[in-house]
Amino acid sequence: SRTDPPQGGTDAEKHRDLLVAENERLRQEVKVRDGELRELRRQQAACWDCTHLQENAGLQERLCQLQREAEEARAKLSELELEVQQKTNRLAEVELRLKDSLAERAQEEERLSRRLRDSQETIASLRAQPQHVKYIIKTVEVESTKAKQALCESQSRNQYLQEQVGMQRQVLKEMEQQLQSSQKTAAQLRAQIAMYESELERAHGQMLEEMQAMEDEKNRAIEEAFSRAQVEMKAVHENLAGVRTNLLTLQPALRTLTHDYNSLKRQVRDFPLLLQETLRSARAEVSARGRPGAPLPAWLWWVAEPRPPVQIGQAIEEVNSTNRELLRKYRRELQLRKKCHNELVRLKGNIRVFGRVRPITKEDGEGPEAASAVTFDADDDAVLHLLHKGKQVSFELDKVFPPQASQEEVFQEVQALVTSCIDGYNVCIFAYGQTGAGKTYTMEGTSANPGINQRALQLLFSEVRSKAADWDYAISVSVAEIYNEALRDLLGKEPQEKLEIKLCPDGSGQLYVPGLTEFSVQSVEDINKVFEFGHVNRVTECTNLNEHSSRSHALLIVTVRGLDRSTGLRTTGKLNLVDLAGSERVGRSGAEGSRLREAQYINRSLSALGDVIYALRSRQGHVPFRNSKLTYLLQDSLSGDSKTLMMVQVSPAEKNSSETLCSLKFAERVRSVELGPVSRKAELTSWPSQEQLERGLCPISPQGDVPGSSSRSHASPSPGLPSGRATSIRRKLQTSG
Ligand code: ADP
Ligand code: MG
Repeated sequence: SRTDPPQGGTDAEKHRDLLVAENERLRQEVKVRDGELRELRRQQAACWDCTHLQENAGLQERLCQLQREAEEARAKLSELELEVQQKTNRLAEVELRLKDSLAERAQEEERLSRRLRDSQETIASLRAQPQHVKYIIKTVEVESTKAKQALCESQSRNQYLQEQVGMQRQVLKEMEQQLQSSQKTAAQLRAQIAMYESELERAHGQMLEEMQAMEDEKNRAIEEAFSRAQVEMKAVHENLAGVRTNLLTLQPALRTLTHDYNSLKRQVRDFPLLLQETLRSARAEVSARGRPGAPLPAWLWWVAEPRPPVQIGQAIEEVNSTNRELLRKYRRELQLRKKCHNELVRLKGNIRVFGRVRPITKEDGEGPEAASAVTFDADDDAVLHLLHKGKQVSFELDKVFPPQASQEEVFQEVQALVTSCIDGYNVCIFAYGQTGAGKTYTMEGTSANPGINQRALQLLFSEVRSKAADWDYAISVSVAEIYNEALRDLLGKEPQEKLEIKLCPDGSGQLYVPGLTEFSVQSVEDINKVFEFGHVNRVTECTNLNEHSSRSHALLIVTVRGLDRSTGLRTTGKLNLVDLAGSERVGRSGAEGSRLREAQYINRSLSALGDVIYALRSRQGHVPFRNSKLTYLLQDSLSGDSKTLMMVQVSPAEKNSSETLCSLKFAERVRSVELGPVSRKAELTSWPSQEQLERGLCPISPQGDVPGSSSRSHASPSPGLPSGRATSIRRKLQTSG
């Protein structure tokens, strides 16, 4: 209870009251004893020698005792008083504490009552709220234990969340700090960027100026080059015009010559008959001398007058000499024409096309199938005629070798090309044709009768020897094969490995084949060893050499490096001798699988070769070297001022006539590509693919005309020199003869 004094306080007060009362009583007793003492002293004085003295002594003794007792009581009293004092102090203290706690209580009460009021107000306001709220409250009340639990959980969750919030706040603070620092960095970077930008702008300005300067320089250079090119072009055009007029003037001369020649031929053919006739009639006339006046036939003018037989012989001699003279003239004109053609070939990019017809062999069998379908012109070694399906088709190439032409003769026509390799020219010699037409015979030959490959190297050796006084030469060879567009090194340790063609890293634009073996050779023995090694590699890599070699391109690459000791001049010439894969049309015969794939690769690469030669000869800006491994590998040796020879091999047997026709068409197209005006080049029709050669373009038209070449001359814009010109001259010769 609030009014109750503290227990300690009450006891102390009671004790004090008791002590006070005791004190009072002791004081009263001390007073009484004092009175008694005084009475006794008076009595003592009155009766000193009375008996009372004893009594007095007793009493005094008693008094002393009492006084001691009083003293003790006093000490006890003061002790008690001290105690009382202490207790009083404690009481005061306790009272103070009590007062404090009372004040606290009052405050607490105040606070509680305030809360009570608040709660009452809240309750009142809650009561005033709508019913559903009450319901919820009820529910809440009902589920109060659950709710309490939930509340507890929520509180703990709340606690946790608050902690989280605290943590997040911390993180936020850190991030803000980071942000501030990044903003600072960003500002710095921006400043740097601005600096760089200004620098960049300056550099850009400089670059623009430089570019402008370079542009100006370039324009100047282009203009110079253009004017130079124009001058050169003019010269070339003049040259060409000269050649053309030459050719054009030659044409009528040739025609009259041909006419003369043919009439002479007829006369010569008829001459023995005529002679016999004349002699007979002369004899008749001589025997009829006895009957003068008998008439003679008019055509016997030269025997009309009676002449001796010597005169007749003279006349024959005259005719013969005229005949010879005419033939001589005709041959001279032919040679002139050939010279013009050679000039034209040079202008057209140094691509020559030869044909070689192999003899009929045992393999061709017997009977009409094995008969020769090819005939030649005795007076013109550039022409050959093919009998195909009963019709004769004529072709003119740069040179045609008949079956009896020896390896030596063939090589004589080729050797100028080979030696130009020593002077630093790149040369390509291809053998083209169907399998069995003699490609390998021409390129490799037999050991008894070697072909171009070995003869070329022999010639190179002897040429090099003859120049040894001034020049140092090194000759090296590589032997490679392209099969299904894979290039293989036949002199390498791993002939199975596929090689890649790469651009020289020195930026010269030259191509090279990393890993392609090059053997340095110095003698014919060296070459033979190299060839044998390559041959062994080729044989071990395939099951059937004949089949394999007919489906792959075999390459012998000879490199001739020269150094002129006096001037220090260096030359490098390359001679590429290529035995091409068989050109026969396999696709038609329903080949499947790997055979078909091989055929497709061959078709594609031979077409690519045709495309490249076509582009080179028509001097197109873009030459599609990269369309096949073969042309890509030989790019250096086909472009620029390099020289190319296509040796088209022909099998004369009747049964091969359609393949032969295709090969010769390929040859004629390669040869007859025309040099048109520069601006019109793009209009030239593109080279027919190998497949086109096979399909649409092979059958001949009823006139025996070559559809491919005539269509090209339509597309050709130049009226001066249609591509078929040389051929058409030849045809006229044929028809008039
Ligand atoms: P390809 O290489 O085109 O398939 P080959 O060179 O193997 O053809 O020739 C086939 C056959 O014809 C061989 O037996 C070869 O000796 C023979 N042959 C080819 N050309 C001639 C030639 N001009 N003289 C003699 N025989 C030849
Ligand atoms: Mg062969």
